[in-house]
Amino acid sequence: MQELSHWINGRHVKGTSGRFADVMNPATGEVQARVPLASKAELDAAVVDAARAQVAWGAVNPQKRGRVMMAMVGLINRDMEKLAEALSREHGKTIPDAKGDVQRGLEVIEYCINAAQMLKGEFTDSAGPGIDMYSMRQPLGVAAGITPFNFPAMIPLWKMGPALACGNAFILKPSERDPSVPLMLAELFKEAGLPDGVLQVINGDKESVDAILDNEVVQAIGFVGSTPIAEYIYGRGCSNGKRVQCFGGAKNHMIIMPDADLDLAADALIGAGFGAAGERCMAISVAVPVGDATADALIAKLIPRIEKLKVGPYTAGNDVDYGPVVTAAAKANILALVETGVAQGAKLVVDGRGFKLQGYEQGYFVGPHLFDHVTTDMDIYRKEIFGPVLSTVRAKTYEEALGYAMDHEYGNGTAIFTRDGDTARDFAARVNVGMVGINVPIPVPLAYHTFGGWKKSGFGDLNQHGPDAFRFYTRTKTVTSRWPSGIKEGAAFNFKAMD
Ligand code: NAD
Repeated sequence: MQELSHWINGRHVKGTSGRFADVMNPATGEVQARVPLASKAELDAAVVDAARAQVAWGAVNPQKRGRVMMAMVGLINRDMEKLAEALSREHGKTIPDAKGDVQRGLEVIEYCINAAQMLKGEFTDSAGPGIDMYSMRQPLGVAAGITPFNFPAMIPLWKMGPALACGNAFILKPSERDPSVPLMLAELFKEAGLPDGVLQVINGDKESVDAILDNEVVQAIGFVGSTPIAEYIYGRGCSNGKRVQCFGGAKNHMIIMPDADLDLAADALIGAGFGAAGERCMAISVAVPVGDATADALIAKLIPRIEKLKVGPYTAGNDVDYGPVVTAAAKANILALVETGVAQGAKLVVDGRGFKLQGYEQGYFVGPHLFDHVTTDMDIYRKEIFGPVLSTVRAKTYEEALGYAMDHEYGNGTAIFTRDGDTARDFAARVNVGMVGINVPIPVPLAYHTFGGWKKSGFGDLNQHGPDAFRFYTRTKTVTSRWPSGIKEGAAFNFKAMD
């Protein structure tokens, strides 16, 4: 069986803790590799080396750091097929979806090519007599990222790219469920010219996360994962004096107004609700049709579409709409929540409970489910299911529908489908959710905007990628300078390149 490693000081390093986690093939239920789980001592040693390497990297001019990013873009594109295959093998998502995962990460690396522009400071000429004032954005030193299983390329790249482009060293603790792609990305960064030690990938579980949280050298932590862990990391990291941003779980509502194009809305719900087996933080898990006529018509359009969904392993190629969920425990949890929905009185209009895939009986496949007449007190409404289960909550009015999105504890993404600009504009202005789609079901902002949820979906005050990332991974120093006298002779007039 393959034994995975850590990536330390520019090479693969075997774990020394003696602890391992199994990396499963979710389609077959077989163990395909084991990943070492780092001890506190291993993590701390990697941080010491990273801090040493950061000194020189932080002094490299930002234009040159941008060139490493440019090379990285080329390498990721070169290896797209290989990365997508490794990603699908451990995560289970389809190959086109895995390529999307890599692509959305790659776009943030493209954005980071622009590091020199992003890191330009501010300058006030003659703030007083003979006094100039200027601000610089300086790297923090060592930053760390802790990432979830569901986007094993995109989210590590969202963290590594900006942190490194800003001149930091970076410790990545990827999900132990699918650690191969983050290790491959670290190899590519080395090939792109990143100096050894500046990027360390430390595999592990709670022990290495706690070691990051308590390590005095680590200045900043970016986390993405479930809300209970986000809250834990935010609390402990902040109380240890670190800069922390944590992005948590979600329950994304899509409101369907009576004037919406229902075919468009139904198609959107299928992709956003069941794509990647519902294991996306921006998945739509609640449909809120306004008016019973809209609800009845929408359900009638959804049922045949859901019944046609093809569930299978990524190796079946284009014949598959979505793959297995990530673990046996995730499957059991999803099916248990479906049972609570039935027991608490929701109407299960499409029942995927009996789903079996011949030849893959041990895989973690879950059939698609559609609930109607879901109410806000039910477990399937309150909890994040993170599986192929779409709930319908019927609203009588627009205000009632808006209230559902507003009152839910999560606030990651939301969408409205309507032909009326006034309703859409009102929704975008009032809803207390971080990312809003108007006739767009999964409104994931592009790399040059920022990504982040509100309420229990996001903790901290800066978002991921876009300009916020360059603020998160730097600190501002402001200099006030006066030169009472100076020698004005001996100026050099040759035109010299900065590198
Ligand atoms: P998770 O919270 O189980 O794990 C995330 C990371 O935390 C992993 O690296 C894991 O090793 C670590 N971890 C797990 N338990 C820990 C503990 N007790 N102490 C310290 N560290 C611990 O999340 P997951 O199952 O990998 O990912 C799915 C979750 O992530 C969903 O809730 C989803 O909504 C959320 N998510 C959110 C966003 C966003 O941007 N808001 C994006 C993707 C995923």
